[in-house]
Amino acid sequence: MHTNLSELLIFVNDSIRSSLIRINDNGKNTLFVIDDEKHLKGIITDGDIRRLLIDGVKLSQPISNYYNRNCVYGYYNSRKSELNKLFREGIHLVPLIDEEFKVVDYIEFQNDFHIPVAEPYLNGNEYRYLTDVLTSTWISSKGAYIDRFEKQFADYVGCQYGVATCNGTVALHLALTAMGISQGDEVIVPNLTFAATINSVLFCGATPVLVDVEEDSWCISTEEIRKAITSKTKAIVPVHIYGQPCNMETINEIARDNGLFVVEDCAEAHGAEFDGRKVGSIGDVGCFSFFGNKVITTGEGGICVTNDKNVYEKMKILRDHGMSKSKRYYHEVVGFNYRMTNMQAAIGCAQLEQIESILDWRRKLEDKYFEKMGTIPLVKLQNRSIDKTKKIPWLISILVPEEKRSFITEKLLYYGIETRDFFITLSDMKIYQKYKFSDTNSKKLSRCGINLPTNNKVDDNVIELITKIIREVIDSRG
Ligand SMILES: *Cc1c(COP(=O)(O)O)cnc(C)c1O
Repeated sequence: MHTNLSELLIFVNDSIRSSLIRINDNGKNTLFVIDDEKHLKGIITDGDIRRLLIDGVKLSQPISNYYNRNCVYGYYNSRKSELNKLFREGIHLVPLIDEEFKVVDYIEFQNDFHIPVAEPYLNGNEYRYLTDVLTSTWISSKGAYIDRFEKQFADYVGCQYGVATCNGTVALHLALTAMGISQGDEVIVPNLTFAATINSVLFCGATPVLVDVEEDSWCISTEEIRKAITSKTKAIVPVHIYGQPCNMETINEIARDNGLFVVEDCAEAHGAEFDGRKVGSIGDVGCFSFFGNKVITTGEGGICVTNDKNVYEKMKILRDHGMSKSKRYYHEVVGFNYRMTNMQAAIGCAQLEQIESILDWRRKLEDKYFEKMGTIPLVKLQNRSIDKTKKIPWLISILVPEEKRSFITEKLLYYGIETRDFFITLSDMKIYQKYKFSDTNSKKLSRCGINLPTNNKVDDNVIELITKIIREVIDSRG
């Protein structure tokens, strides 16, 4: 119940002057008109009053002849999801009445309704395992859950070894360092990705080479990779962007022919497959992130998976300050502290138990979205039928006409629906400009792409609303 309800009430016999004063004080642009017994009679807004004054109506006149008798109202005991349906363009404040038609409360649009882009889904054993860790006092980076998580995640992907890290960015850096990438080396990176991909190359002191992505898959273009290879090229970092697997067959072929390493950035594609194999198991090393908005999460966290025992050993040593495995506190290489905690791993184990059901609701959500969005002219859906690939929905993604994008996202936000624009083409940022090799498709996609809310709060009503808003903006001229 709102305690400031009385500031929103005005008696039917009060004057226009008193309504103006009330509206000025309550800051809500609206008053609910009531009789002596608090029965709802109607509504009057500051816009109504403005129009009355322009028409020459005197301030001393009672509002009884001027308020709107037809007003939207709800019942105080209705469910919130029902009440949310009352909101529409121009109706952001709705009085709530009891059985006797007396005003007892109100609901306000912006405060009550918010759909985030992503939200962690923690409905399994997270709490139980975490409690277990806390009672055991093994809260740092040693403990049973770490070994279990590394083993189980590697298993899930189809790899022999896993090295858990404190986030996905350092997983990339760890893998590249273990492959010996350093100053003077060139590493090929797609121009449309999150900055962590290029930053991890720069942390090694190596030179990133930003190549364009394909128009169809939005993933790194294998033709551009071929063109960008020089005698200094040492590795390729394909990114399975927005859940879409890259063409790993061709990438591995190019790598084999040119003696290059392949480090897969799988931060957005847990469970996606290329030719029947899970991403992360196809290149030399696969790197995943478990940040809060990813398919599964450990809060912050990451992992490197591999089938190469030698690389695995190197990554373990580098993660642990470069300390010798046989002689404690003797350091063989300059290493890092990139360890994951047992607390993160506990959450990770619980998350991994649910990954199939999480991917399942994500797929169903994408189906529903695409069914509706597919009917809007000029909206393009992410391609789900690329040869040999089985993509997963990370953030559900569409393309809209470039000149309409900001109108769409702003209008959605006005209705409490958060979206995300696609990544900015890396070479369009000052600090990365000089690494550009090619950028045509990256630029186009970057300007047209929208990530839609992908979480459990999105129900049929929300999809309906989003579709309606996008359609309206696209249909409007200008
Ligand atoms: C999220 C993400 C990362 C980095 O992961 P963090 O765990 O946030 O460090 C790397 N690459 C891509 C493509 C990502 O989306």
